[in-house]
Amino acid sequence: HSPAGGRRLWADIDLDALRANVRTLRERAVGGAQLMAVVKADGYGHGLLPSAAAAREAGAAWLGTATPQEALALRAAGDTGPLLCWLWTPGDPWRQAVEAGIDVSVSGRWALAEAADAARSAGRVARVQLKADTGLGRNGCQPADWPDLVAAARAAEVAGTVRVTGVWSHFACADEPGHPSIALQQAAFADALGAAARAGLDPEVRHLANSPATLTLPDAHYDLIRPGVAVYGLSPSAEVGTPQDFGLRPVMTLRARLASVKRVPGGHGVGYGHSYTTSGATTLALVPAGYADGVPRHASNTGPVLVAGKWRTVAGRVAMDQFVVDLGGDAAAAGDEAVLFGPGDAGEPTAEDWARAAGTIGYEIVTRVGHRVPRVYR
Ligand code: PLP
Repeated sequence: HSPAGGRRLWADIDLDALRANVRTLRERAVGGAQLMAVVKADGYGHGLLPSAAAAREAGAAWLGTATPQEALALRAAGDTGPLLCWLWTPGDPWRQAVEAGIDVSVSGRWALAEAADAARSAGRVARVQLKADTGLGRNGCQPADWPDLVAAARAAEVAGTVRVTGVWSHFACADEPGHPSIALQQAAFADALGAAARAGLDPEVRHLANSPATLTLPDAHYDLIRPGVAVYGLSPSAEVGTPQDFGLRPVMTLRARLASVKRVPGGHGVGYGHSYTTSGATTLALVPAGYADGVPRHASNTGPVLVAGKWRTVAGRVAMDQFVVDLGGDAAAAGDEAVLFGPGDAGEPTAEDWARAAGTIGYEIVTRVGHRVPRVYR
């Protein structure tokens, strides 16, 4: 597993697994729905451009990003396919996005005006996807304001500045199957689509389904499924299931080489605050990965690591650059490999195991892997 030159800490990224996940998800899509691979936040920590390219190769018709910078980076790298960007702020590069043929999400009148202005100055029609707030309470247009927004968007179409390419929304609780908000959001989305049609809009794509809805709610697939975390082989929640239940394979494996291995006597404090003390003479191994690398400090004394063939637990606090594991009577040497998480089928913990240890979700574990951790693509 050693990358050329040897590394202290690196993330293996299995792009074959990513491609296989995209194909598996496409097979689940109902009624010929296409797939938008969500590649925001540096491809959930897996690398924006390699993840995007692999997703396209496996048949992702669309890509989705949060920020315009992410979307423009894809265009700068030569991606020319359908691409939606949804988190806009006044002052963002609207015009560059319109020039680059990026679909911009619009949740209200100010954003529609930005898109139309950008279209006029770029001399191009802005591709706009209208977002309805069907209950998430985050971005999106409230039902009370929706008739006004769709009418204004239709007027902009007639004026020739805007083409409404999509109508879409996002779930709040799809990762909790059976949650009462799910059906309410589906009904609200149907209402929003009806109002858009009555206003004369005829979007290319209507879409609602994130990973949990892709996996559990076939009647929410519409024209396009929009998975993120499942593309990277993680399950949205334990309630939805395990990645294996859906034939998904985790894409990232986080590995390190032990920086030191030494014997210490019993009663020895370990790490800041001495939150761990050796119970007898033992062997301590130092893993050169800390919270600056995305190892959650909340996993102090709980996070699991595969070292010398067994699961160990972080001993003491996770520091900025390093943490310790207690090997007991087992032997290891500086340079031996430690696996923090991976697919789990070679005995290593998974990102979900770290999420449980740290009181968070697998999404955060992979997305926070730090900038100084090289991604090694295979
Ligand atoms: N759509 C939108 C608007 C999102 O913000 C996200 C990510 O949170 C996704 C889709 C993908 O969600 P998931 O990673 O749960 O599939």
